Amino acid sequence: MPSMQILCPQCKQPIVADIQQLFDVGQDPAAKQHILSGLFNIIQCPQCGYQGPYPTPIVYHDPDKELLLVFVPPELGLSQHEQEKFVGPLVQQIMRHLPPKKRKAYLLHPQQVLTLRSLQERILEADGITKEMLEAEERRVKLLQRLLTAAEDQLVDLLREHDATVDVGFFRAVSQLIDAARTGNDEVSAQRLEKILELALEHTTAGQEQRAVIDALQDLEKRLTALGPRPTPGDLYETLITWLAEDPSEPRLQALVALAMPLLNYTFYQRLTERIAQSPPEQKAALERARDRLLELSQQVEKAFQQAVHAMREAIERLSRAQDVRKAVQEALPWIDEDFVSLLAEELDKARRRGDDARAQRLQRLWDAVQEALAPPPEVQLLERLLAAQDRAERQRLLEAHADLVTPQFVQTVTQLVAQAEQGALPAELRPALQTLYNEVVRFSMLRNLKPAADTPSQEKGA
Ligand SMILES: [Zn+2]
Repeated sequence: MPSMQILCPQCKQPIVADIQQLFDVGQDPAAKQHILSGLFNIIQCPQCGYQGPYPTPIVYHDPDKELLLVFVPPELGLSQHEQEKFVGPLVQQIMRHLPPKKRKAYLLHPQQVLTLRSLQERILEADGITKEMLEAEERRVKLLQRLLTAAEDQLVDLLREHDATVDVGFFRAVSQLIDAARTGNDEVSAQRLEKILELALEHTTAGQEQRAVIDALQDLEKRLTALGPRPTPGDLYETLITWLAEDPSEPRLQALVALAMPLLNYTFYQRLTERIAQSPPEQKAALERARDRLLELSQQVEKAFQQAVHAMREAIERLSRAQDVRKAVQEALPWIDEDFVSLLAEELDKARRRGDDARAQRLQRLWDAVQEALAPPPEVQLLERLLAAQDRAERQRLLEAHADLVTPQFVQTVTQLVAQAEQGALPAELRPALQTLYNEVVRFSMLRNLKPAADTPSQEKGA
């Protein structure tokens, strides 16, 4: 980032600051994240103490998306000619970094945006995220914040009042938050969120629709279970089609897509078409509509799946090219899940088989960082091994071998676990084991503290 002499926007004194005007994803994959976070060109004036954004023209370029955007803060009051004088050299700089076959026509027509927010929206739009989606997301977040802080007897009123905001995305967000709270052992938040979920299912339009899909899912599951452990494909298709023909409603269609997507193939549709042909006329039209809708729903699911994979591939690229891969992985940890790990394994395998050593090395580095980040910390590993130990002697050996991990915090963690087990937050069968472990860890820790430091070498000599 070039250091520049600029004038402080507040006191107009000259100061030197790192100012970035070209954000080229082709040269710096992190550039996109910088723009989206809004955390760039933040200056601090040593004269007057001003701290905040420095308004300056910006050029954003993403070669893969063929996106060239220019944002000139209106408060600068630059004329068209002045703007061109500024943009021209930056576009030249972009061109120089591109191989000739990638120098395409879009580079000749930079698109102007009027606000930083519309710049961010254009970037997200190129990823398939529209302005409407962003606004809906904002409304959901606001509602959730209110629900999380409101008194419990106000929840139903709040949900009814914001019936339109409670949609599929809302339910997805709440479910994800519940998972996150459980993972972080935040039982209080998890219970609160579950209460919200339960009330939203009962008291909102989308909730009742969701509820109908859940009921349909359970019904279909029951029907499939009744077929026994190894049904023939013929029986499966027959069961699915009969079940749908009984009631070709939207909840049943959605349940089919959610539960039996792999079975909705050519054979399925062929049999469904045969069934429609044999149906009495009064049923025919409804079944035909159901077939069209089913195709539509399947395509949506398929598209969403492909988008998710595409986004994960991009994340793998970005993370594997990060300068500090471990740090980048730590920041991305909240959304690194099983799917991400298996896609990464697949990509690594592909790179190796193709003999693309550079890429394989890069992905291996990312793989190691992900494994390291996902591994439980050593204290947790020690705790797991202690709880799995056969007897007191083995626990004692483990404690001695990892004495450096048995810190006051470790003892406190064990104390908290015992308390949680007593309150019923942990399985009851863990209680005696935790109590025993607690006694032994406290004893070990006390004895060690009592022992004079000089004792250690003489003990070694004796052994
Ligand atoms: Zn200043």
